[in-house]
Amino acid sequence: MRRTKIVATIGPASESSERLAELVAAGVDVFRLSFAHGDIPSGIERLRRVRAAAPDVAIMVDLPGPKIRAGSFGTSAVTLEVGDQCELAEGVDETSTAERIVVERADVVGLLRQGDKVHIGDGGVSLEIVRPGTPALTRVISGGAVMGKPGLSLPSSIINERLPTDGDRARIQALRDEEFEILAVSFVRSAFDVESVRAVLSRDDVMIMAKIETGEAIDNLDEIIEHADSIMVARGDLGVRLPIEEVPHLQKEIVRSGIRYARPVVVATQMLESMTHARMPTRAEVTDVANAVLDGASAVMLSAETAIGDDPVGVVQTMDRIVRRAERSFPYAEWGASLGVQRLTASSTQATRVTAAVTGAAWRAAMDEKAVAIVACTRSGLTARAISRFRPPMPIVAITPSRATARQLSSSWGVQEVVMSAASDIETLCEVAISELKRIGLARSGDAVVLMAGSASGGAAVTDTVRMLIVP
Ligand code: PEP
Repeated sequence: MRRTKIVATIGPASESSERLAELVAAGVDVFRLSFAHGDIPSGIERLRRVRAAAPDVAIMVDLPGPKIRAGSFGTSAVTLEVGDQCELAEGVDETSTAERIVVERADVVGLLRQGDKVHIGDGGVSLEIVRPGTPALTRVISGGAVMGKPGLSLPSSIINERLPTDGDRARIQALRDEEFEILAVSFVRSAFDVESVRAVLSRDDVMIMAKIETGEAIDNLDEIIEHADSIMVARGDLGVRLPIEEVPHLQKEIVRSGIRYARPVVVATQMLESMTHARMPTRAEVTDVANAVLDGASAVMLSAETAIGDDPVGVVQTMDRIVRRAERSFPYAEWGASLGVQRLTASSTQATRVTAAVTGAAWRAAMDEKAVAIVACTRSGLTARAISRFRPPMPIVAITPSRATARQLSSSWGVQEVVMSAASDIETLCEVAISELKRIGLARSGDAVVLMAGSASGGAAVTDTVRMLIVP
């Protein structure tokens, strides 16, 4: 039983039906589809293929936001040496070379000033503007190999588009009738960005995941978390836009803040990067994944490792082993005891406030009676996410009438089983829970089980009841 979830990015190395089935068997809980690469119709076609091949796994669609890419360097590595000069030019569908890098946007190169830095990819390669203009002349200040169509990180004063960008909006429109559960939003800077995307999306069956990857997002972290349904520590861009030595500390702060608001938090990027081509991860990578689990991440994410790597299934199996081992050292009891109350604000709904109080009581009861499972009867997933923040040592079993909620809970820490049931009265829910727990071998006669549900007489559709059940 693994509690921390695994997100795998799908790409050319992993999109065949056979490979997707193997990835599900290896333990992937969420498939991430980046809509930053390729055109929209092929993105939609890939999404439908993934949905057909893995009907029970959640799908995360990742919007590019104002990300700017370089024209392709091709499939073999191009090396940029420190001190080399190269031009930065604007163009679409043109190839980049070591002498002339193409920026796939028409309105930014001319805005760069002398001394500005442009980082390529995840920041290993950097250029400095020595002569502004269109094209601009640059000098390589940090060298290395580049290939494909890397992202370009420009000073944020230049990229000040509001979200959703026109490109994001076109993707959201095209995805209107598609079945997916999570929309990851890149370069969120404020709660206003989150709400603007939510207004355009206009779907309550899709959770919004705010990717935290800019200084502005760190400045506005609390309001963003409050307005988003889940968050991602997007360490790739975060490590380019902020000093790289800040990343481990920001990761801890973002994870802690997400848990305070009962939001799932994904830790992403370069987790097992060397395994894109190597058979074994580095010791540092193994330690990084284990530390993310110990920090309290709800999920850990694979990017290039599964999208373009040599052995996507082997990487997931490796991550699964590291996570399971780290979870054996997780301080479950201390975690819940030192958690503090769920962060609520003036705008928190009554359902959120009542659910926060009830899940606290459920966790205490389950710990005191050493319950074998906590059952969360949940329509929207709110109750399961709220109990998940306590990181209880026993499995969380969700009972929901909604398939979309069932799949969304794949990104929530510790939610092990999801049972579909339309029952609404507590007595029937208790019966469904007990027989299901017995069937899957989680409970035997005499075991204690804690169940949370909304009582019919409670009026509002909110979890207002905790029951201690002794399995007959
Ligand atoms: C990141 O920057 O860490 C990230 C996950 O975003 P993307 O891979 O979409 O650039």
